Amino acid sequence: MSRIFNFSAGPAALPEAVLRQVQAEMLEWDGSGASVMEVSHRGKPFMQAAAQAEQDLRDLMQIPDNYKVLFVQGGATTQFSAVPLNLIGDLPGQADYAHTGHWSKKAIADAKRFTKVNVVCDTSDEGYKHVPAANEWTLSDEAAYLHLTPNETIAGVEFAWLPDSTVPIVADMSSTILSREIDVSKYGVIYAGAQKNIGPAGLTIVIVRDDLIGNFPDNAPRLLDYQVMADSDSMNNTPPTFAWYLAGKVFAWLKEQGGVGAMEELNRIKAEKLYAYIDDSDGYYTNPVQPNSRSRMNVPFILHDNSLDALFLEQSHAAGLHALKGHRSVGGMRASIYNAMSIDGVDALIDFMHQFKAAN
Ligand code: PMP
Repeated sequence: MSRIFNFSAGPAALPEAVLRQVQAEMLEWDGSGASVMEVSHRGKPFMQAAAQAEQDLRDLMQIPDNYKVLFVQGGATTQFSAVPLNLIGDLPGQADYAHTGHWSKKAIADAKRFTKVNVVCDTSDEGYKHVPAANEWTLSDEAAYLHLTPNETIAGVEFAWLPDSTVPIVADMSSTILSREIDVSKYGVIYAGAQKNIGPAGLTIVIVRDDLIGNFPDNAPRLLDYQVMADSDSMNNTPPTFAWYLAGKVFAWLKEQGGVGAMEELNRIKAEKLYAYIDDSDGYYTNPVQPNSRSRMNVPFILHDNSLDALFLEQSHAAGLHALKGHRSVGGMRASIYNAMSIDGVDALIDFMHQFKAAN
């Protein structure tokens, strides 16, 4: 068996130590004579594991008591609709959205089906190369919330700051959750698909302030109602038990690593190394994003000559560095370096880029 360095944007690399634990427990979990996938979500062992996962996430992110943590399905994309349905109250109402990349564009398109959307800033014309400063934003007076995508996975654009807001901030943290310390109390809702920094696809985390729950319309799907999910401890119907269990293992692993602060330091080092190498490559490799808006999680880079892309991908793959192909809208390469990517993996990538440059 050989494990590669996996730079996939998501589903993404998981910590090997976690996968080994899961492997060891695959046939028999918790003395139950069955795998975790084969037991009831209402049984005591699973209920305990589920509650422990929530507690560990609360500890890691220091989530205040007046926030619910929901373990739901449907991916971050489902939250693009669930957010306006839960937060607007009297639809259509209106909401503010920052348009800083591909995913905020999708969130805006879905929100428009339910509410009036005011776009406070829009960098689509430049191809998403920076986060505009808050004093350039046009906020509306009557927004129910302000929606941000703190890390845009495709363009590799990340907020290094949080705007002051008089209305609740809603953040799609799919590709940045648990990668750096944040103050949860500054947000109304945080949501994230699991398949980057949390666990397998199929699980979505929603962290929502209590006072924002309870305004859901009667005629919308019940499972999108934060109240329904909160009242049932996210078990109104069968939850994605395996993904929840595995997320719990990742949370425990993160605690062992020293928590989010320790991961943030590693992530800063990984990203700084990679960007420094790209910037010092005399234009052989370039990253198109303004330095103050560069993502620590997703690092796109373009080769000076795109006729070399196929060779780069073929040879990097052969060298055990996988999933480096950039998103088609950006082109070139993208290295996603989430929590489970080691410094060794980033060093191996830089070594390869160096050798490739020398040879071509
Ligand atoms: N938001 C962001 C920032 C993402 O990166 C993604 C997926 N890559 C999504 C939303 C969509 O997530 P899902 O596939 O879980 O619906």
